[in-house]
Amino acid sequence: MKKKIAVIGSGFSGLSASAYLAKAGNEVHVFEKHDRPGGRARQFSTDDGYVFDMGPSWYWMPDIMDSFFADFGCQTSDFFELISLNPQFEVVFSEGKISIPESLEELKFLFERIEKGAGLQLEKFMQAAKFKYEVGMQDFINKPCHNWSEFLSFKIVKSAIKLDLLTGFRAYVAKYFKSEKLRTLMEFPVIFLGASPKDIPALYSLMNYGGYALGTHYPMGGFYQLVLAMKKVAENQGVYFHFNKTVESINTGSEKVSSLTINGKIHEFDAVIASSDYHHTETLLSKENRNYSEEFWQNRTFAPSSLIYYLGIDQNIPNLEHHTLFFENDLDEHIDSIYEEKKWPERPLFYSCCPSKTDSSLAPLGKENLFLLMPLAIGIDDGEATRELYLNNMLSRIERHTGIKDLRSKIEYKRSYCVSDFISDYNAYGGNAYGLANTLGQTAVLKPKIRNKGLKNLFYTGQLTVPGPGIPPSIISGKIVANELIKLKN
Ligand SMILES: Cc1cc2nc3c(=O)[nH]c(=O)nc-3n(C[C@H](O)[C@H](O)[C@H](O)COP(=O)(O)OP(=O)(O)OC[C@H]3O[C@@H](n4cnc5c(N)ncnc54)[C@H](O)[C@@H]3O)c2cc1C
Repeated sequence: MKKKIAVIGSGFSGLSASAYLAKAGNEVHVFEKHDRPGGRARQFSTDDGYVFDMGPSWYWMPDIMDSFFADFGCQTSDFFELISLNPQFEVVFSEGKISIPESLEELKFLFERIEKGAGLQLEKFMQAAKFKYEVGMQDFINKPCHNWSEFLSFKIVKSAIKLDLLTGFRAYVAKYFKSEKLRTLMEFPVIFLGASPKDIPALYSLMNYGGYALGTHYPMGGFYQLVLAMKKVAENQGVYFHFNKTVESINTGSEKVSSLTINGKIHEFDAVIASSDYHHTETLLSKENRNYSEEFWQNRTFAPSSLIYYLGIDQNIPNLEHHTLFFENDLDEHIDSIYEEKKWPERPLFYSCCPSKTDSSLAPLGKENLFLLMPLAIGIDDGEATRELYLNNMLSRIERHTGIKDLRSKIEYKRSYCVSDFISDYNAYGGNAYGLANTLGQTAVLKPKIRNKGLKNLFYTGQLTVPGPGIPPSIISGKIVANELIKLKN
């Protein structure tokens, strides 16, 4: 029988869950507190012609997005043009810089030039990473992770050693490469998982394959094209979207959710999927119905928050790539400021994205769209004066790298975004940007559960649940939870 299902939030996980639920014949309503879909991947435009993607900028693992569209009988190219960047990105070190080429063959030559034998080592590293990617994507990532027995298939047990579940990522990389620069390059992709390479299992070298080998892509028109495409898919399945609608409480009857209070009005549903941040979702429930206590959340390792600047620059910036990592300072020192000391970094690393280098629709002619991001500890003070201090630091490093003079005077649009904005916009615990870190103790079955323990028709999805942070995992998370609800119904 057709069920009436509410989805809270329209980020990638909410969009994905809603589309699969509607495809299974349900009446699905998505309630989003903002005026547009996308969540952390929203986009905004300025009066003077700049268009900024607010969050994601690295389109990795394109096969996951392709398979979402394929599940609905379409393909990515039906919605937007996806291009492969060459170079994929540039890394600026204190001495010199490295451009990562599109082709893995060229990357091997580059590694060989930096360290004798490293070309072959990269080939071996990538072979192992490809195996992990394939097993991980087919047999690991789609599990609801209620308990470990889901992983007791012959294939998984047989592969366990090759998956390097119990080896640390950093030690694993060190077995392959001696050069400090090469190690940093190989460690960089796991930063997306929201934790230090010290604390992440070597299984996640699958990220290196998902990035370096499958390539860094860009959707023309900006990342928001992916949001719009997924919304279109959901609408084609019959999903109803309701914007500027804040869910204020989740109301319960006996062992079930009965209704939601939305903008002061009560609406009844047969089931609810919450893609809003997990901790916030639980605050919408009475205490006895929550899966986890405040203490539980205090003891989790959250992925970082971020300081972001969206800048409109009134001239072209020479010598700057689409993606540039400013890694002149020590990676561990910055990571320690996030996880150990929980304070603003003294010698920060940061990332710059200049998508107008690839896509002229994002800035007026002859001008640049510049997005700067510096990962930060959650929960710290983020006053305007501190933000500006760090902006100056980033600008002067871009000046040094590109040769442009007095970049500050060329800023014609400026907006900053930081910890307190993540809290007020997304109800994000501590202002986290990327959810929970994928440490070993917070992987798979050890992640917060996708189902409420007492209320059988309440489910959770999104980057704080399985499989974890990032766009591809969030899309998969929506599919997992939709399937669980569909199974329950059956
Ligand atoms: C700055 C930044 C850069 C990133 N870069 C990348 C990248 O390059 N590549 C990549 O793969 N990933 C990246 N990520 C991660 C990726 O964007 C996220 O993992 C993903 O978008 C999370 O989707 P989600 O559906 O779990 O959550 P969200 O996008 O947060 O969606 C949750 C939605 O719920 C809504 N909501 C919350 N509370 C309520 C309520 N009470 N009522 C109604 N609605 C509510 C929110 O408004 C939001 O729209 C980045 C994230 C950030 C923040």
